[in-house]
Amino acid sequence: MKTEITIDSYRDIAPKGTIDLIYNLVNRLKGRSLLHVNSTKLGGGVAEMLLRLVPLFNNLGIQTRWEIIQGTPLFYQTTKSFHNALQGQPQIITDEMFNEYKKVNQKNARNISFDSDVAIIHDPQPAAFIYKKPKKAKWLWRCHIDVSRPNRKVWNFLREYVARYDGAIFSLPSFAQKLAIPQFLVYPSIDPLSDKNKELPRAQINSVLDKYAIPRDKPIILQVSRFDRFKDPLGVIKAYELVKKHNECCLVLAGGGATDDPEGLQVLNEVKEAAGNDKDIFVLDLPPDANLEINAFQRAATIILQKSVKEGFGLTVAEGMWKGKPVIGGAVGGINVQIVYGRTGYTVNSIEGCAYRIRYLLNNPLALNELGENAKEYIRRNFLITRHLCDYLALMIKMLNI
Ligand code: UDP
Repeated sequence: MKTEITIDSYRDIAPKGTIDLIYNLVNRLKGRSLLHVNSTKLGGGVAEMLLRLVPLFNNLGIQTRWEIIQGTPLFYQTTKSFHNALQGQPQIITDEMFNEYKKVNQKNARNISFDSDVAIIHDPQPAAFIYKKPKKAKWLWRCHIDVSRPNRKVWNFLREYVARYDGAIFSLPSFAQKLAIPQFLVYPSIDPLSDKNKELPRAQINSVLDKYAIPRDKPIILQVSRFDRFKDPLGVIKAYELVKKHNECCLVLAGGGATDDPEGLQVLNEVKEAAGNDKDIFVLDLPPDANLEINAFQRAATIILQKSVKEGFGLTVAEGMWKGKPVIGGAVGGINVQIVYGRTGYTVNSIEGCAYRIRYLLNNPLALNELGENAKEYIRRNFLITRHLCDYLALMIKMLNI
């Protein structure tokens, strides 16, 4: 039988004092309720965090529901285009697409109960629900994407909705917008007790490697990501090819789709083509619940990459660092707040830079180990779910003015 994870399970992991602080905050929120709304139950960082946060809120006695907006193919195509445009890519968005966005939001709003003291509405997909906000409730729009240089047309469209919220939450100060409502900074987090991050016995790690025929006798360079152009999987392959001229290693690109991301298959095919017949490149299209597998890959890896060219936060960076691995990541968005250059890993700006740092670490095992140890401690202090809970609880108190 699975033992239930309670907040006390984190006492020996979270920084000292965190659990007591959580209990103090919860005491002030007795009888209050919370609603989260997003667009997918599986795949991607938002679902990953809600899957862990929602049970913990309930466990603490704060009645918490999680609702999901159900879209049409055109709706998901539209919101993916919004996502791309908000992260600065040129996109063509037609009136029909804007209308579909409104229509799906209106239709879903009829079937969801919005009865709760506080609601956190995640990302653009359900942002238009704001028109359903009950008078006494406090609603926060939680933005997980890099909106530092958004496409104006899409942001202006979305802004109409966002401006009606009681507050907005961003993952980095540089994502804050010109808005008349209060804006808050909350960093995302990982759960050290989830299947994705918990300790695994060596035998289990080995059996996962064997299952995917990944060699155990050479260094593994790993990137875990949805197959998305912002994650630059093709750049990862090019960096690996530069490394491979000098160092023996293999590359694992482990990914999968999210139900609200219609572009994944196309990118996966491009990645497979770029990998060609190289026997040391493993392109793995995993089911969305392959948490133990991803955990095992991260623990087996020598170096973890997250070579994104845009990134809201990049949970995979924290996941890799938590496993005591140095992470080499694109110098963008939330990757910059997780990787302390030269202390916990390296941020890079090019394929060549990425290859250079991979080679540097492969050739310097002492530096590799030291960075990995620092990385784990850095995540423990800053990016665990317990800190995230504190932030959300404090925000609820602030919004309810209690
Ligand atoms: N992930 C997964 N399977 C995959 C690809 C990603 O479980 O095939 C997980 C990954 O481990 C991480 C999350 O999805 O927990 C991705 O979050 P991140 O912030 O890195 O990127 P996002 O997908 O939200 O842009």
